[in-house]
Amino acid sequence: MTGSFEDIKELVRELHQKYASFTEGTVASYIPELAKANPNHFGISVVDIDGEVFEIGDCSQKFTIQSAINPIIHGLALEHVGPDTVEHRIGLEPSGNPFNSISLAERTRGPENPMINAGAICLTDMIRGENPTQRLSEVLSAVERYAGEELGVDMLVYSSEKLTGHRNRAIAEFLVNFGLLHNPPEQVLDLYFQQCSISLNCTQLATVAATLANRGLNPRTGILAVAPDYLRHILSVMFSCGMYEITGQWAYDVGLPAKSGIGGGLFAVVPGCMGVAVYSPPLGRGGATARGVKVLRELSDRLNLHLMSARHGDFHRNSDPEP
Ligand code: GLU
Repeated sequence: MTGSFEDIKELVRELHQKYASFTEGTVASYIPELAKANPNHFGISVVDIDGEVFEIGDCSQKFTIQSAINPIIHGLALEHVGPDTVEHRIGLEPSGNPFNSISLAERTRGPENPMINAGAICLTDMIRGENPTQRLSEVLSAVERYAGEELGVDMLVYSSEKLTGHRNRAIAEFLVNFGLLHNPPEQVLDLYFQQCSISLNCTQLATVAATLANRGLNPRTGILAVAPDYLRHILSVMFSCGMYEITGQWAYDVGLPAKSGIGGGLFAVVPGCMGVAVYSPPLGRGGATARGVKVLRELSDRLNLHLMSARHGDFHRNSDPEP
């Protein structure tokens, strides 16, 4: 990484201005409520591991987290049932398939990885709690620990997805058929639809990213969001599978663990340094925000953030020089 927080701010300002007029991509409409999003909304937030925040554009606009919650659910499942159970039920291979593909891995007969819908629904099934209300509260408090603020479920998006989520219902039934869900599928799906409909803003999403960059400790609140032992599990799965069928290209171009959501949110983690989030509803390939992909690619390139091009030990902030 090259540059101070001041340099980062300047570059982010420049990229926001540059890509504000970029109009590629289409707002998701298969969940009817999402189609109402304003395609012009565009925010970029950066939160570093000291908790310093820089935001530009529509960073207080709320949107639903959608699949960008999957790394958080992954961490929660690891804490609730342990890595052996998670790894036994869900694979670790990039699938190259779209997020909603109804398929299982040939070899393991389980979902290919925890980031695609089938894997995410399986993770949701592993969340512990006496009843559905308690399980939702486990999920909500986890996201709040990462985001650092109180959050809620957008009931309109939740009802809209519940009404039209036939494909996810098919995925859940498919999982039941292979003995991969332990709770009643309608209950698992209900929690899945609610967790995808948690609404937050771009800076809260960047705080999630910064918490993952800071070994699970939220740099703005000092609260531990997830056991540090699981960071390597969460981040490596994000790196290999977080961007669905554009993950390989993303790893090549951007080189950072990241997760997109069809609500238009995207976050990337620069371990030991900072989290970055972009919000812009029009989606491009892989169901990821088209502006977000452009911004992160250029940001990574110009700040030399690609994990494979960094020299070992590069990931410290400028204010924290190497001994
Ligand atoms: N709730 C969405 C679905 O299951 C999430 C997909 C995504 O954000 O990639 O279809």
